[in-house]
Amino acid sequence: MASLDYAYRRLVNTLGPERVARSEFERMVYSHDFASLPKVALLQWKLYPDFVALPQTTEEVAALVKLSDESLLQITPRGGGTGWYGGSVPNRGGVMIDMRKMNHVVAFDPDGRKVTVEAGVTWKDLEDFLEAKGFALPVVPVNAIGSTVGGAINSGSSGFGAPRGGSLCDAIAFLKVVLPDGSILKTASEADADGHLANLTPLFFGAEGTLGVITEATLRVVTKPETLRAVAYAFPSLAAAARFLTAIVDSALVPYHAAVASRDHFIFERALRPDSPDPADIAIVAVQGSKDEVADQERSVDVLAAKESGAKLAPAVTDALWRERYDNYSARRLSRGLVTSYNLVPVGRLSEAVETAIEIRDKLKLNGAVQAFLVDSTTAALVPYVLMDDTRPSGGTALGFVKRMGDAAFKMDGHSMGLGLFLVFNLRKMHGRATSFISSVKVVFDPRKKINGGKTLEVWTKYPWPGLRAIPPPGMAVGLEIAAVLRRAKPTRDRFVRAYEHGKEE
Ligand SMILES: Cc1cc2nc3c(=O)[nH]c(=O)nc-3n(C[C@H](O)[C@H](O)[C@H](O)COP(=O)(O)OP(=O)(O)OC[C@H]3O[C@@H](n4cnc5c(N)ncnc54)[C@H](O)[C@@H]3O)c2cc1C
Repeated sequence: MASLDYAYRRLVNTLGPERVARSEFERMVYSHDFASLPKVALLQWKLYPDFVALPQTTEEVAALVKLSDESLLQITPRGGGTGWYGGSVPNRGGVMIDMRKMNHVVAFDPDGRKVTVEAGVTWKDLEDFLEAKGFALPVVPVNAIGSTVGGAINSGSSGFGAPRGGSLCDAIAFLKVVLPDGSILKTASEADADGHLANLTPLFFGAEGTLGVITEATLRVVTKPETLRAVAYAFPSLAAAARFLTAIVDSALVPYHAAVASRDHFIFERALRPDSPDPADIAIVAVQGSKDEVADQERSVDVLAAKESGAKLAPAVTDALWRERYDNYSARRLSRGLVTSYNLVPVGRLSEAVETAIEIRDKLKLNGAVQAFLVDSTTAALVPYVLMDDTRPSGGTALGFVKRMGDAAFKMDGHSMGLGLFLVFNLRKMHGRATSFISSVKVVFDPRKKINGGKTLEVWTKYPWPGLRAIPPPGMAVGLEIAAVLRRAKPTRDRFVRAYEHGKEE
């Protein structure tokens, strides 16, 4: 392996000194993503990259990837760094490729209904660009403000618009990808963006940055609807709010978005923003179409909400909720850390799913809230989060929640989403025998495992020695289960917000 100083000089020769960082502070910023990891994780992984590189072109990305053959340093692609399970965090240091300088719209073709963007553009910036031109994205990932186009595609994300617009994968015409050998691949022919011929796009959707670095995406766009209207209701329980979402699916209605959030979420919000809605189990539904269609849909949604005793919120409150729809985790400021569990469950089991999430949270004596949204007519995303303070000795045990929630999702005929650094043990549960074929795809694209090696398929440690080089994925599952058991044994409940405790006693 070349020395780090030599590797640094080669990186600087490629990008210039202003786009390569190696200071302790900058490396620290990239040593975690949105999830909180206890300090003890540093014993297992080298979470700090050796260098951070900020390319501006596909060719520069290709040059960085080729340099890795000389330096033998691992490569970690990173977008907004808002993932939940360490996918964009190094496990053995190496070169972090931060894509956020590649944030331009390359081409917009209104007649062909397509837009080509660099992978580091955020969804919100892209949404704003299209809206100004009278167009919209069929699907906008839930975290549109922080998440980049490349990051959400690699995470297999879903979000706003999905019940009508379908999967985010279907919204991709084709991708430009730098493969691990430094060559550049277009995943489908431009003349055949519908993919009647070979279309490799789905291979990269949800690949968590293990098969190459996406540098550009050509996405389908739709015309902006004449009207989009959000309506919200407070329900007597979260299960009732969830039944309301299921009833929407069972009716002929196809909303733009439909989501629920538990009362606890609004207690956290209230602690931070006194003008937030009165804490309640709230569902919000957005419908779109012509003015008349929207009025019809709103009446139908009102009827369904009334059946579950939902009380309609004032338009000003609903409008504020809708405006803030991309900002879900302010509660993190109460505790300094937060862990989210992302699962897909059958729509028909949504009320059971939200109750299960509350039960698990309470058993583990955690503070947290439950959120869920419709993905399509069969599937809902169940996204509870819990607060944690990773500077407290017991902080890291909150990660046991993610393990228990994943187990529960599998029992409900669903599954957890996202593998990253520490949920790799779910891969086999999700894919069964297909797991070995997924591993074979990695070998074909990246035989030296230099891009995000030792993640999603196996759990590398920072140690190069045989026997210590990797942790068997079931070993990680056992570790997180022990965390859950310790959490349960903790004599006291977390108390990040006192009002939360009062709420529980009511
Ligand atoms: C408020 C909020 C809501 C969220 N809601 C959802 C949700 O509903 N569904 C969901 O799936 N996730 C959700 N997330 C998690 C996360 O935001 C998404 O997964 C997001 O799309 C990740 O985008 P990012 O740009 O931050 O990617 P990062 O976190 O930087 O990276 C994610 C993965 O993609 C890889 N990667 C990033 N860019 C590239 C690239 N250009 N080429 C190759 N690989 C790349 C990384 O190596 C990593 O494995 C949410 C997060 C927040 C904070």
